Amino acid sequence: METTYLLKLGELTLKGENRRNFENVLKRNLLTLLQGTGAKAETAQGRFYVHCPEEAQDAVEDALNHLLGIAGWAKTRVAEKTESAVLRACAEEGKLLFQQGIRTFKIEARRTDKRFPLDSYGIMSKGGEAVLEAVSGLAVDVHTPQGLIEVEIREKAYIYAGAKKGLRGLPVGTAGRGMLLLSGGIDSPVAGYLMASRGMHIDAVYFHAYPYTSEEARQKVIALADILGRYTLGIRLYTVSFTEIQRTIKASAPEPWLTVLLRMAMMECAELLARYREAKCLITGESLSQVASQTVENIACTESRVTLPVLRPLIGTDKEQIIRLAESLGTYKISILPYQDCCTLFSPVHPILRGDLAEAGQLYQGLELSGLIEKALRERVMEKRSFPQALQARRFS
Ligand code: ATP
Ligand code: MG
Repeated sequence: METTYLLKLGELTLKGENRRNFENVLKRNLLTLLQGTGAKAETAQGRFYVHCPEEAQDAVEDALNHLLGIAGWAKTRVAEKTESAVLRACAEEGKLLFQQGIRTFKIEARRTDKRFPLDSYGIMSKGGEAVLEAVSGLAVDVHTPQGLIEVEIREKAYIYAGAKKGLRGLPVGTAGRGMLLLSGGIDSPVAGYLMASRGMHIDAVYFHAYPYTSEEARQKVIALADILGRYTLGIRLYTVSFTEIQRTIKASAPEPWLTVLLRMAMMECAELLARYREAKCLITGESLSQVASQTVENIACTESRVTLPVLRPLIGTDKEQIIRLAESLGTYKISILPYQDCCTLFSPVHPILRGDLAEAGQLYQGLELSGLIEKALRERVMEKRSFPQALQARRFS
């Protein structure tokens, strides 16, 4: 038996003339995510549908749960466009709701094909009657129903209950590329996801300081990139060794400045990589005043060496909210694994709180890091993580 899914596009409908472009990108992303599942995608009248063999349902639902740019999706019954077929399908959905423990329901109907003999109101009232007749124990509640049965009369009749929420946002690939500074912490994976959800392709760079930071810390970042990459249709993770750079900073900079100067070096290095990848901005997980290096004065110092825009989607978000997002993405449980990152190891006991911009510039220049930064970049390691094609290959090998 073939299963059909119906996708709701949400915000895309607001995008006026961009809409066609956005829809094309969304469709391409959907096809990419569906590769190897045996499913087919179809568009009709601004709606997307996915048809798949029954055994591919889990893979398709997983793909839909990772697809940015849709408001929702539903596994739907497809019925003939006759009154009796539609009412029968409503009754079947009612039975399923009852089996799931649901006791009150409501029907909502939309009719774009005006030739269908019942109007929306007619579908709702007759559909409701059909359900009540077929399932004793269900009652109508139009205000706060436990279950909702939706009917759409389009080129075919679609009847479904239990529509799922989509990730919303915009399709990845509609807003250029950003270079994410990805640490093993809670914030930066969430920051990357938020920018992806505004349509950005994401590359990630991780600054590693072996042996001060362990191989486990790097594996943690790889695991985070894997999760993030599921939403971003794959991600390139660059690991850049910062050991020598950190040693140099530690050896010659005043202790209170260590973290700010390290951040300045990270930004400079990330910007060079971004230009190489034609990324249009840097992305960090910074959040105002969360730690000493993230006061507004220190943020000014940190970004003073770069000219690309630095996007900080979490700047005004409190930690509780960031944690909730990280939990829903699945990154939180990895982020809290206890391996230290380079920053904690080098963090000063009394960090500077309101760094002076001119002083930061002078100190930084005195370190003469460009040679080391270039060398570190030349020796970068790149890994492609979570590209859907590769995942499929793994799944079937
Ligand atoms: P996170 O949870 O993202 O690590 P944090 O609260 O620990 O955030 P910091 O450690 O001060 O914050 O880092 C601020 C930002 O700098 C991070 O969100 C990240 O974007 C970047 N960053 C910090 N350390 C690294 C690193 N080792 N490699 C790449 N980026 C880093
Ligand atoms: Mg961190």
